[in-house]
Amino acid sequence: MAKQLLGKEVTAALNDKIKSNVAQLQEKGITPTLGIIRVGENGSDISYERGATKRCETLGVAFEKFLLPEDVTEKELLEVIDKVNKDDKIHGVLLFRPLPKHLNQSVIENALDPAKDVDCMTDGSMAGVFTGKQIGFPPCTPQACMEILDHYGIDCTGKKAVVVGRSLVVGKPAAMMLVKKNATVTICHTRTVDMPSVVREADIVIVAAGRAGVIDDTYLSAGQIVIDVGINVNEEGKLCGDVDYAKAEPVVEAITPVPGGVGSVTTSVLVGHVVEAATRKFMA
Ligand code: NAP
Repeated sequence: MAKQLLGKEVTAALNDKIKSNVAQLQEKGITPTLGIIRVGENGSDISYERGATKRCETLGVAFEKFLLPEDVTEKELLEVIDKVNKDDKIHGVLLFRPLPKHLNQSVIENALDPAKDVDCMTDGSMAGVFTGKQIGFPPCTPQACMEILDHYGIDCTGKKAVVVGRSLVVGKPAAMMLVKKNATVTICHTRTVDMPSVVREADIVIVAAGRAGVIDDTYLSAGQIVIDVGINVNEEGKLCGDVDYAKAEPVVEAITPVPGGVGSVTTSVLVGHVVEAATRKFMA
């Protein structure tokens, strides 16, 4: 039976650190604050927002919401970003993406003040992930994967790692972060030939494909550590990952469940970034 890598165990440790950092800021009269910009009423955005605001409340971080209609113009959205950029009380900003198609996502993302870019929206922050320089903050989801590996003492040095998915939000930055941890990394995508044999060779597998249950036991082998980033709703209306947990679990050494794995850690990483942004502003 595989060991479960539980988000709540990682989150508990992260939250302790965050609470202590919040207390230090509060002594100086600073309340770290997250600005949330949401366009439209996408169900998964609303559910992530609910999780983020609950976590903020638990950890003593304030939040302010900017809710905009689906047909918001680019000019109106840029005005909101300008407002949060200039608001000294807001330390970090979460903007839900993808944005509706009529908006130029790249222009909007890069309008954000890099100091408030707590989820790696701007090109500068993303460059930081690839160059290894500390520019802005890394994206929360791949960082959550690294927090899970660190928490469970999984040493990546010299290990073969496979990342399934090459999005800029998860797959590519996750691969760079694994390289930084001295793993030898392969990225798989829809054009990868004979993916099962590539994935089976890995010691560490991070799956971010956005397809329910796409990785089953035929892709996996004994001794592997599997981190499932996927969040999908299956035919029975239940949350599930990109890994077929029932088939994978008997084969591998350790695995994150969905729900209860990466998702909850991501939320704490986000709140931790807001607190860090407030700390950096105070120290500046
Ligand atoms: P995305 O932008 O849709 O990218 C999916 C990637 O997976 C693409 O690179 C695609 O390859 C690849 N892919 C899709 N099907 C594949 C297959 N059958 N075999 C191999 N590769 C395949 O998705 P994303 O934004 O990276 O998100 C990935 C998953 O993570 C989603 O389920 C999302 O809901 C979840 N997510 C979770 C969190 C969290 O906090 N837990 C946060 C963000 C996202 P091509 O490039 O060739 O198309």
